[in-house]
Amino acid sequence: MSNRKITILGGGQAGLQLACGLLQKGYDVKVVQNRTADDVRTGKVMSSQCMFHTALQNEREIGLDFWGKECPTVDSINFVVPAPDGGKAIDWNGLLDRPAQSVDQRTKIPVWLKEFERRGGSLEIKDAGIADLETYAATSDLTIVAAGKGDIAKMFERDAEKSPFDRPQRALALTYVHGMTPRPDHSAVNFNLIPGVGEYFVFPALTNSGACEIMVFEGIPGGPMDCWKDVATPQEHLARSKEILSTFLPWEADRCRNVELTDANGILSGAFPPTVRKPIGRLPSGKAVLGLADAVCLNDPITGQGSNNASKAARVYMDAIIGHGDRPFDEAFMQATFDKYWDYAQFVVGWTNAMLQPPPPHVLNIMGSAQAVPTLSRRIANAFDNPPDLFPWFAVPEEADRYLQQLAA
Ligand SMILES: Cc1cc2nc3c(=O)[nH]c(=O)nc-3n(C[C@H](O)[C@H](O)[C@H](O)COP(=O)(O)OP(=O)(O)OC[C@H]3O[C@@H](n4cnc5c(N)ncnc54)[C@H](O)[C@@H]3O)c2cc1C
Repeated sequence: MSNRKITILGGGQAGLQLACGLLQKGYDVKVVQNRTADDVRTGKVMSSQCMFHTALQNEREIGLDFWGKECPTVDSINFVVPAPDGGKAIDWNGLLDRPAQSVDQRTKIPVWLKEFERRGGSLEIKDAGIADLETYAATSDLTIVAAGKGDIAKMFERDAEKSPFDRPQRALALTYVHGMTPRPDHSAVNFNLIPGVGEYFVFPALTNSGACEIMVFEGIPGGPMDCWKDVATPQEHLARSKEILSTFLPWEADRCRNVELTDANGILSGAFPPTVRKPIGRLPSGKAVLGLADAVCLNDPITGQGSNNASKAARVYMDAIIGHGDRPFDEAFMQATFDKYWDYAQFVVGWTNAMLQPPPPHVLNIMGSAQAVPTLSRRIANAFDNPPDLFPWFAVPEEADRYLQQLAA
């Protein structure tokens, strides 16, 4: 047990997971969150939040999985590249060793906020600024900022070395629907890569009104899938989603003949530059606060890693805090804790940023070869749970050639 006081600004995936885990270990935890449970439940969708086994397991281990039985499973990754003739140039399916799941954050976060208070946590509803952080830092042993894409994250200096892009790399959109025709065999993230246009992926999930499918559009800026700015109503958003599929992915359009939005807020469009920041933020008083998850390591959703990262980062930070015992949470602790996370996250960032670029020949070769080599398709699929397994062979052409030759032999 510890009576040390930890304040966490931001009650999302990372902040609440860490907060609930620390409460279980006897810490005195305060969460400052700018939206109430009701605001979140009745607000707009925020993510497609598909989480793979390791990230889900972190939630289970601290008793935060309330939807395991109800939420549909995602059993595989299905990768498709359309051919110019309207067919498929590449099409393979890699089974996941253990299923993934996506629980709408509008469903999850309100329940977690309640659970946090039930465990004895102190919740303050406030859009906190720098002056508030000064107060928290003065009265807490450790103050953590887990504000996601919130403006306050700008207090952490952008790390130019780790952030190759200074503008959005995709125009993003989400469309949550009921009534999609299920895949014939097992469920999947259907990942369609349309060269020069962007990516479309879709998978089953759980939302406030039950099981649904989440459509995710990743349009290359200026291209035909960067097409959301003139959309005025939810119905127009749904219509635009279906138009894209009819134009580029007829097999996906076929599944969508009878789809309806889950609700008028089951849509989102926007864009942001992937950004890694320095993990220590300094307040005007000189006190330091520690950044967590998206606040300091924000990725494009193309590889579906943000919530997974948030879960894994929260786990690393929790273990570090507990392991630190009664010693002071000084800047050396903060840097070492982020570095421990970065040992893992650097691979996620590297892979995700690579996927935003036109695929180089060795990646095309890997993705094409996977169609005939089940070991390979399965390895790529399971790398969504463990991206470091893609390195170095996915990143280095010579390593890719070597690995493919080895598989062929
Ligand atoms: C279109 C899209 C699709 C995605 N799909 C996936 C996917 O399939 N799989 C996946 O793993 N990830 C996905 N993600 C990413 C994932 O949703 C995020 O990475 C994840 O939610 C980050 O968790 P977090 O705790 O860092 O931040 P968040 O979940 O964003 O939580 C931050 C919290 O802080 C609060 N806050 C912000 N500022 C303040 C303030 N000043 N004071 C108080 N509170 C504040 C916010 O309201 C929020 O509740 C997707 C993201 C997008 C945009």
